[in-house]
Amino acid sequence: MSRPLESAARLAISKTPRQYSSAVRRWRHLAPQALSARSPHHPDSSSRQAWQSPSEYRSFSMSPASRREATAAASDAAETWKQGKRVLQSDNLFHPFSESPIPEMRTRGAFIKQHAYCPHPDHKVTRLPTVVPKEGEEIARGGNSPPAHVNFECPDCGIPVYCCEEHWMEDYEEHLKICDTLKEINEDDHDLRSGRVFPEFKFGDEQMPDAVVNLTNWDTYLYSRQYDAVNEDRGMRHATRLLTYPVTIGSVLHELSPYDIRKGGRLTTEGLKSFSALRYSLHPGKSGGGSDVKGLRPQAPAMRIFVLGARAESSLPRDAWVELAHLFPDSRLHVIFIGPESMANRDDEFPLPERTPSNPFGMVVEDRIWQNMKISTIVDYYHTIHKTGHFAPYDPYFDCFVLFHPGLGHPASSHEWSETLPLLLETKIPIICTGYSQLDMQRDSDWVNKTAKGEFDVLLEPGENRFRSLRWDLNDRDPGDISCGNWGVWAFRGKRYETTAKE
Ligand SMILES: [Zn+2]
Ligand SMILES: [Zn+2]
Repeated sequence: MSRPLESAARLAISKTPRQYSSAVRRWRHLAPQALSARSPHHPDSSSRQAWQSPSEYRSFSMSPASRREATAAASDAAETWKQGKRVLQSDNLFHPFSESPIPEMRTRGAFIKQHAYCPHPDHKVTRLPTVVPKEGEEIARGGNSPPAHVNFECPDCGIPVYCCEEHWMEDYEEHLKICDTLKEINEDDHDLRSGRVFPEFKFGDEQMPDAVVNLTNWDTYLYSRQYDAVNEDRGMRHATRLLTYPVTIGSVLHELSPYDIRKGGRLTTEGLKSFSALRYSLHPGKSGGGSDVKGLRPQAPAMRIFVLGARAESSLPRDAWVELAHLFPDSRLHVIFIGPESMANRDDEFPLPERTPSNPFGMVVEDRIWQNMKISTIVDYYHTIHKTGHFAPYDPYFDCFVLFHPGLGHPASSHEWSETLPLLLETKIPIICTGYSQLDMQRDSDWVNKTAKGEFDVLLEPGENRFRSLRWDLNDRDPGDISCGNWGVWAFRGKRYETTAKE
């Protein structure tokens, strides 16, 4: 019973009134009536609209191919909804790409043959390594024959992987490491286009007030969230490919987070401090309020989750994002997608709202995605917005950044982030970051270490994400480069220089 009092006391200590009221003002400033809000979408309709054209999405996007695949591929699910009739039975999902009954898969096979190169060591090296070399392992060095496009389809996975049968046979041992996964991708992709009904895309309902969510892994999570439709591995793979986005955020921020400061728990002391501050807002004590006038209580501002460099995740079905709202039913959430490609794949929502004094960045607002959640999207670079002070001040109790597969250290996208990173660090707000493979994540973390040495604290050590997508994705430009959505997760923030009182 002491909770309301206790939390009021904690509020008084931990938050100066000025901070609190500025945060409230900020929320008011962003209130929907102040913006040229668009009509709210029914979750179903928006997801259908936004998820229909992965191929267009691909041509729209300009950054590293593999990163693009990892996020964009999730959108394939919507393809079947268009077709509306069953074309493949569940025991007939394996087809070599070139002989697939689905035209789109044949096209895809042709695309791979046109763009991907044979990985046989006789060829000159054509690509950067896609796996982290193990200790003592030599980095592959190319041979003398010129690069050659793939042309031979492995009979076991049905994907063109070598230039000829001979090279496939000679390098078979190497191919065997990924052949099973490629076959699984082949079948999963056919399944998505099979025209069957997908009960796994019916996501969970509101969490019962006293039912505790178990964030140990996907199995415990889906069970404790009462997902009954996801019993099969394939269904799990499809569902987790979408749910990985909201649940990865949730698993780091939630008070029942599986990451802790015990040995091997990956959370650092600085991480505990930062996430405790956010959890304080995300899991408020009961206010003792009610619906009558006497029960009115000041409402805390919404938690702002800035998703930067947003791509396919901004067009995820809204039902998937609502999962995050169910994880934090007692707080208000405002998810803000920011990035030049954040409207990719959402063609039906164009044209964007005009840029006006009250909505200077033409923000698309979807209010009331759920009773405690709204989503906004801004098509612009974050650093441009940051410099105008539009979202300032930032508050360690109410703000965090999320970067899904940002490619911070990727040679093709690094330069885009070099201007942004110092601004993010300056806010001292936690930055949750994911990678689509170990290499990708390590490259990002190395880049931050190099670029901002001594200016940041790690909050969560880089490592495998317990809520990564269970579905693997194929990079059509390099079938040897398999990855999955949010394979790894880590977090950091700008260093705080705390003044300590002299004894
Ligand atoms: Zn070859
Ligand atoms: Zn194979």
